[in-house]
Amino acid sequence: MHPLEMGGYIIDTPGIRELGVVDIPDEELAHYFPEMKKVMSRCKFHNCKHVNEPNCAVKEAYEKGIIAIPRYESYLSIMANEDNRR
Ligand SMILES: [Zn+2]
Repeated sequence: MHPLEMGGYIIDTPGIRELGVVDIPDEELAHYFPEMKKVMSRCKFHNCKHVNEPNCAVKEAYEKGIIAIPRYESYLSIMANEDNRR
């Protein structure tokens, strides 16, 4: 775990994979990313997965640099892994 200046941690990929084994539902995954959880209530869709949805507050925060790039990329890679398992 690497502390970030803005708070929160970058979770190393192996740890993330282990989290994936626990089988977190897609819609709950963002709850493990506190900075995403903070903004996700502003997403247009309450079941937003913050990947391709329009008017996604998480993507917006990422584009503005509020959410660190490695954090969002970790999130996307977990999402991609989940999809591969189905
Ligand atoms: Zn979203």
